[in-house]
Formats: sequence, structure tokens, C-alpha cells
Amino acid sequence: MHSIAEVLNKDYIGKDVTLHGWIYRIRTSGKLTFIILRDSTGLIQLLSSTKSLTPEQHRELSGLTVESSLEVTGTVREDTRAITGFEVEIHSYRIFQRNESFPISRDLGEEFLLDNRHLWIRSREFTAVLKVRSTIFKAFADFYYNNGFYQVQPPIMVSTATEGGSTLFKVPFFGEEVSLSQSSQFYLETFIFSLEKVFTISPSFRAEKSRTRRHLTEYWHAEAEVAWIGNEEMMKIEERMIEYIVSEVIRHNEEDLKILGRDIEFLRNIRAPFQRIRYADLMKMAQEWGLPLKYGDDLGADEEREIMVHFDKPVFVTHFPKSLKTFYHMPDPENPDEILCHDLLAPEGYGEIIGGGERIWDLKQLEQRMAESNLDPKDYYWYLDLRKYGSIPHSGFGLGMDRLAWWIMKQETIRDAIPYPRTIRRIKP
Ligand code: ATP
Ligand code: MG
Repeated sequence: MHSIAEVLNKDYIGKDVTLHGWIYRIRTSGKLTFIILRDSTGLIQLLSSTKSLTPEQHRELSGLTVESSLEVTGTVREDTRAITGFEVEIHSYRIFQRNESFPISRDLGEEFLLDNRHLWIRSREFTAVLKVRSTIFKAFADFYYNNGFYQVQPPIMVSTATEGGSTLFKVPFFGEEVSLSQSSQFYLETFIFSLEKVFTISPSFRAEKSRTRRHLTEYWHAEAEVAWIGNEEMMKIEERMIEYIVSEVIRHNEEDLKILGRDIEFLRNIRAPFQRIRYADLMKMAQEWGLPLKYGDDLGADEEREIMVHFDKPVFVTHFPKSLKTFYHMPDPENPDEILCHDLLAPEGYGEIIGGGERIWDLKQLEQRMAESNLDPKDYYWYLDLRKYGSIPHSGFGLGMDRLAWWIMKQETIRDAIPYPRTIRRIKP
């Protein structure tokens, strides 16, 4: 048995090969039938004719429809007219399934394709999406392994909110109500006391009621937490990580990026360091661009889109006002109304892909910020314990992997970048 990519090679000319796959296209002139076969590795043209098959066999193959599954054995030859430059003349075959017509043909609406995502993921476009995602997930983990991090597995069912109650998903838990994790950050903070440098790639859940191009209710969250470092060192690690992931995608997925129509030269330019802009300065820039933003305004999907059309590399926005961020963020000792944090905004109008920063590690200060946020310290007893026993400075971040994939592939919405998107309106298939 061979893969298609393997036999698209002059070494196979004149040789017999056995391929497995699905019919991507089929066209017949009666005497000759051309089948484009696809497998996970590529496309190749097959030829059926009565030269090497009986008339019954030729008729049977010629009657097949798109996405029928089969095994063929035949001889490879070069043919510059064929879709990938080679052709296999079929000698024998086995049909696994002969399809009725496949539900997905050209030009169907977005909702129809979402209802049929389980079938659409075999399209060339979505196969390319899946391959790029695969590279991104591997590259993220590789980057951190290569830099001395440990991968850890935090729990998914939790009893404490990290990002506020409004987006919590509640689930019944033996007579109690618990929630699905919005972020693993607090658990990652516990792990640094044994491992110092940790990361995880876990699902996070947020009951996002808004319908934007960038929010899912379930997404893949890559998070890291690092002992002994501050906000600037954290950003230095992140920009190298983003550069590495993008370079790995270019290295492994050039063909997929072409299928998706992504400008590879643009991606080659995504090199660290990335610009750092203070929130206050960004607001001034935004005003110069005519955007109705003032100091203290939160940046949502729309605002970031209008800001980030002005950039062609990611940008770190730092020093947000304290009022805009959650209680655990470290205030800047030089200006306690602002915090030592960063959001990394992707260019081309994409916006936030990372949120991170330095964490408060002093017990009193953390208790005070919790009180200001009306949080009950009892609920966070274990998080506070970390500030009682061997507390240390540390920083971390959370990266939305689907958002990163969405931007790298320059897709229309985040739903185009994840195989089974969950949103306020969609839980099927
Ligand atoms: P946003 O302002 O877009 O709602 P956030 O500030 O709530 O983002 P964080 O809590 O900092 O985001 O989460 C860290 C990262 O997780 C974000 O930078 C983003 O990449 C990703 N993320 C957050 N919410 C979602 C979501 N609903 N769907 C997909 N990714 C998300
Ligand atoms: Mg949010």
C-alpha cells in the first residue's frame, strides 16, 4: 500500500502501486474515465479503460460518484496534463462504498456547511485547515519543551471563576453546581512551585452571548506560567513563540496555505521583536486615526479591528488601566492605577490573541484587590495559600489557539478555523 504523496515521484514511473482513498472528481468520455483520487496526503489522477480492465469493470468504475471509497492497483506514468503530473492506469480495484450523491456540492451557504461540518472537513480547504492546526499545536508544545517547560494537566470542572461570573458555564455535580474552566491560570500558578516553568493546552469554556468573529463558547487555550519573571521577560518569550509557530507553519504547510489563499510572504515577515505600545499611547494613536476612543475604554472586537488594520505585525499593548483587568494583575509600582500586563493583538484587523502579565504575589495586596472586586476569599483559599507559602514573583499568559489559527490562515471568522465550533447558536454536529 502507498500514499498518494509518495507515488508522485519519478522513481515510481512504470511501477505498480496500490492506493486507497476517496473519489475527489470523476469524468468519463465513455472509452476513458478519469478519476481524481484523494487521500490525506494529496490528489492523483487514475485512468480506467478497457485496455487494462474488462468492459464490465470499466463500466462499474465509470459509474462511481464523488466521495465513494476504493482501493486501486495500477501502473504509474508521468502525465503533465494530469492534476498533479502523474497518472495511475488501473489494473484491479476494490470498491468499499459506492455513494449516493454526496450532499455537498459547489456554492452552498455557510449554515449548510456548518450543519454538514462532519462531511465538509474532508474538503480540500478544510483538510488544509486541519493540517495547519496540527502544526500550530505541535509547534506550541515543542517551543515550550525546547525551552525547559513541563506540560501539565489542570482540571476542567472547577469551583472558582477566573474571568468573572457572567460567562460561566454551570454543570450539575452530585447535587452541587460547579462550572467548566474559563482558564487554567490559577492551577498553573500552583504548578510553578514544583516545576517553575509550565504550560498546558486545554479547552476553556465561556458562555459568550455576543456574536463576534472571534468568540467561541469552547476553545483551545494554551497557557503558560513562569516563576521569577516579570511582564517584559514574559513578552520576550511569547514573541519568540509566535515567531516559531508561524515559521513552522510556513515550513510544513506551504501547500495548505496556498489552498487557503494565504499570502506566505506576509507571514515570513512575522519576526520578533514585536512593538510594545502602552494603552495610554494607543488611545492617543486611535484618536489620531479618528476612532471614538478615550482613556479608560475597553477594547473589544470592533475597536481592535479598527486599530489593527494599521499594523502588519503583532503588537503588545501594555499598562492597561486597573479598572479594565481582573483582580490578580500586578499594579505598576510607578503608577498603581495601571497594571503590568499585555495583550498581544494580531495585525490585519484581527486583534487580541494573547492576554498575559505579571501576577500579584503579595498576600495583602491580593486580598485587597479581591475585596475591591467583591470576591469571597473563602472561595479562593487555595489561590491565596500560594501567597502564604514561599510566594514568588511570576508571570503568565493565555493564548487562544483557535484565534491564532484563525489569524495565521486569515480566515473570515474563528468558526472557519476550528472543526466543530461551539457558539451561542451551535452545538451540532
Ligand atoms: P476578549 O476580549 O476577546 O473576550 P478576553 O480578554 O476575555 O478576550 P482572556 O481572558 O485574556 O481573553 O483569555 C486569553 C485568550 O483566550 C484571549 O487572548 C483569546 O485569544 C482567547 N479567548 C478568550 N475568549 C475566547 C473565546 N470566547 N473564544 C476563543 N478564544 C478566546
Ligand atoms: Mg472575553
